[in-house]
Amino acid sequence: MKTLLRPHHGLCIQFYEGKGYNEEFTKKMDALINQIQRNPRMVIQLHTAVDELCNSCPNNIDSECISYEKVKRFDEKVLSYCDLNSGQVLSMQEFLQLVKDMIIEKDLQPSICSDCEWYSICIK
Ligand code: SF4
Repeated sequence: MKTLLRPHHGLCIQFYEGKGYNEEFTKKMDALINQIQRNPRMVIQLHTAVDELCNSCPNNIDSECISYEKVKRFDEKVLSYCDLNSGQVLSMQEFLQLVKDMIIEKDLQPSICSDCEWYSICIK
């Protein structure tokens, strides 16, 4: 079964350190990280709308992120830098490696999500 993933969550996952919007959200994030560790080849479908993680987020109101414009921009930039498209199916391992190679290693994060409230965690 495919897991829907917002493209910019490919960054959030790699820098996660147990902090999140509330307990439900961090539990969901913990569960996803555990799932990835057990099965890095799990199949994902890139999805530029609410995903697995958003489903446990207090900012998800009526199936739309309250920061819609901002996260849409994050998602579009991640897709562009990794040369991927919304709807594309690939393994989590493949996706996270692309994000690492095409964004993190090239220090492109500031051009994507420097206005995210969690940014200071990710650039330590
Ligand atoms: S802030 Fe928005 S994009 Fe991020 S997890 Fe919550 S609903 Fe999803």
